Amino acid sequence: MCAIVGVFGSTEASRVAYYSLFAMQHRGQEATGICSSDGKKLSKVKKKGLVTEVFDEEALGHLVGDMAIGHNRYSTAGSKSVIDAQPIYANYKLGEIAVAHNGNLINGENIKKMLIDEGAIFQSDMDTENIIHLIARSHKEHLKDRIIEALGVIKGAYCLVIQGRNKIFAIRDRYGVRPFALGQLEDGGYIVSSETCAFDLVGAKFIRDVRPGEMIIFDKAKEGFESIQLFEPDPRICAFEYIYFARPDSVIEGKSVYAVRQEMGRAMARENPIDADLVIPVPDSGVSAALGYAKQSGIPFEMGIVRNHYVGRTFIEPTQARRDMKVKLKLSPINSLLKGKKIVVIDDSLVRGTTAKRIIKILKDSGAKEVHMCITSPTIEHPCKYGIDTPSYKELISANKSVEEVRAYIKADSLSFLTIKSLVKSIGDERKYSLVSFDGNYFIK
Ligand code: AMP
Repeated sequence: MCAIVGVFGSTEASRVAYYSLFAMQHRGQEATGICSSDGKKLSKVKKKGLVTEVFDEEALGHLVGDMAIGHNRYSTAGSKSVIDAQPIYANYKLGEIAVAHNGNLINGENIKKMLIDEGAIFQSDMDTENIIHLIARSHKEHLKDRIIEALGVIKGAYCLVIQGRNKIFAIRDRYGVRPFALGQLEDGGYIVSSETCAFDLVGAKFIRDVRPGEMIIFDKAKEGFESIQLFEPDPRICAFEYIYFARPDSVIEGKSVYAVRQEMGRAMARENPIDADLVIPVPDSGVSAALGYAKQSGIPFEMGIVRNHYVGRTFIEPTQARRDMKVKLKLSPINSLLKGKKIVVIDDSLVRGTTAKRIIKILKDSGAKEVHMCITSPTIEHPCKYGIDTPSYKELISANKSVEEVRAYIKADSLSFLTIKSLVKSIGDERKYSLVSFDGNYFIK
């Protein structure tokens, strides 16, 4: 997961990076950081916490220059210390450098072992540190060639922004697994970011997506930007970005995430018609798809469950005797709406089954007559190794139980999933997707 942004040639570079990271807070809440450059030196601020907690006027005042890169971290494995925050910064033979990465390397452990055997010292648990080491150890004369050499070693899903004193490099792996878009700012500067929702906030005009296998170079010594197709493209954008991860107001590879989610809901209604009184979403993840289901089926849409958005990090665990409170603090039913009704509940995905089980209990406790759970993605049977945080086989309920066994576990009256074919058709079957969580096809070798 994670969000990255690069801003080049803008009078307000660090501020634009800040707002972009704010717009992409959903991609990671663990830590955030910005590194800027004024052409002479790099300045950096990174810390654990949310974007609005980490940056204030003083921090932004410190981040001088017309170039900046930034990162929101969603911690997956490893420690959660500040040292695992990005951008990663280093001083090496050619000067200062900073790197921010979204995605996951599949050979990170091997590279790390090789580098440590050769005497390298690591400061973090992040596979991103490998990239900076490889760049620093290259014998090439120019940063660009050092980066290209490093990219020849790493394998996996990655979008990268790499900043030197005078340049920013934006790179996307040849499969384009994670999204990455290019835009132009009102002041003439450029922006690259994980999602286009950042462009809307900072007033940037979308130019195009960064191409799979492409390196874009922004250089103070040159007008515009340079594009190099480094690797043969084999696009397989991650289907899970459309299903769950991206914000609904983002557009990925020409497709509105909101429209795609509605289409997934419509497909579910076509394939799985249910005689029901109401369609309700699991807030907030099921909202767009539930609207699609309601429109297609003609069954009224209602927000039957309300979510309290203020259940945050300072949450005090309820006592054992009040353990039911934990769920109720976050999700609260509208009893008068639900009593005696046959309900279709829509959520985007089922991972461990915890959410579905809780929601169904809430609805049944409110007097719902029937609860039909519709999941607008296929069964998740494999962990994603390309940047989506999914648990191991042991914890993935659909890797261990049949649909009927899962239905019995979550205590639903019925349980349906979208087929892989319908998922692909809902996004657009004119191209390929990364579907690893569903089909176990780990295509990056
Ligand atoms: P679970 O409760 O474990 O079955 O997880 C399913 C719920 O978590 C759904 O409401 C999803 O919207 C949400 N979800 C799915 N994938 C992720 C993820 N990678 N990180 C956080 N939440 C997720």
